[in-house]
Amino acid sequence: MIDYQNILNKIHTSVTQDQDKGTIARYIPELARVNPEHFGMHLKLISGKEFAVGDSEVGFSIQSISKVLTLALAMSKIGTHIWDRVDVEPSGNPFNHLSLLELEEGIPRNPLINSGAIVIADILVSQLENPKAEFLKYVQDITGDSTIGYNLKVAQSEKETGFNNYAAANLLKSFNNLNNSVEDVLDFYFHQCALEMTCSQLTKAFFLFANKGNCLANVARLTKSQAKRINAIMLTCGFYDEAGEFAFEVGLPGKSGVGGGITAVLPNEYTISVWSPGLNERGNSKLGMQALEQFTTLTNQSIF
Ligand code: GLU
Repeated sequence: MIDYQNILNKIHTSVTQDQDKGTIARYIPELARVNPEHFGMHLKLISGKEFAVGDSEVGFSIQSISKVLTLALAMSKIGTHIWDRVDVEPSGNPFNHLSLLELEEGIPRNPLINSGAIVIADILVSQLENPKAEFLKYVQDITGDSTIGYNLKVAQSEKETGFNNYAAANLLKSFNNLNNSVEDVLDFYFHQCALEMTCSQLTKAFFLFANKGNCLANVARLTKSQAKRINAIMLTCGFYDEAGEFAFEVGLPGKSGVGGGITAVLPNEYTISVWSPGLNERGNSKLGMQALEQFTTLTNQSIF
């Protein structure tokens, strides 16, 4: 039996000794206020056992990690029709690159870059009667935690400074790949990014991806095949232009966000989340990447 607690403790001690904790995302002013010293990790095994270290119960802005959750909800609503509007190829580009300029007919390269996530947001705005409330309820339900909410200051801050996202949404609209108004879709998108969750809550939310589509309460939220596909997309597209490096160093499907969180999955075994707000030059949590690399090395567990 692997001594997970001991491993998490060792990682905590080792990575927090690093003097260079990376740089906090400053382009969303509200995120720049976060204390860079935070570090937390939470692990949940399929068997139900949990292990944690550091600030695993402190809430933070999940940002692009939310793209996996909106994708899951959209897939459960319209299934394979999603792929008429967004592709599944890695982009190798930074998160805010207008990569749909590279493509014909306004089809974003994948659902985990901003332009792709904006198309997914558009699908949910069409499918849901009260998109923000119903998406929040979905996240609360799969996590089994009704305390999760949006940080409205972060959503407002993104709205005021999200010029790239307005550009991407307008471009999508010009290609007829946005059915609702730019304002409505981005209002939803900025809120999904502004979801505030802890490592512990994220680990629970992602349980369905490790558990063949069944959430914590053992309710089928996705088919096995849909869960497999989302894991494949996380592996190939989950880390901006560092997805190759993450697969190489860590070897797990996962998703990062510019709030400094990363959640990763070993199908049929566990989900794990880490949070350290300082980012590396590619926009991924600097200590979070190191911590997960150490975790898969010390446990000798990865998808490879
Ligand atoms: N809300 C951020 C943006 O759209 C998300 C960035 C991220 O975490 O990748 O700019």
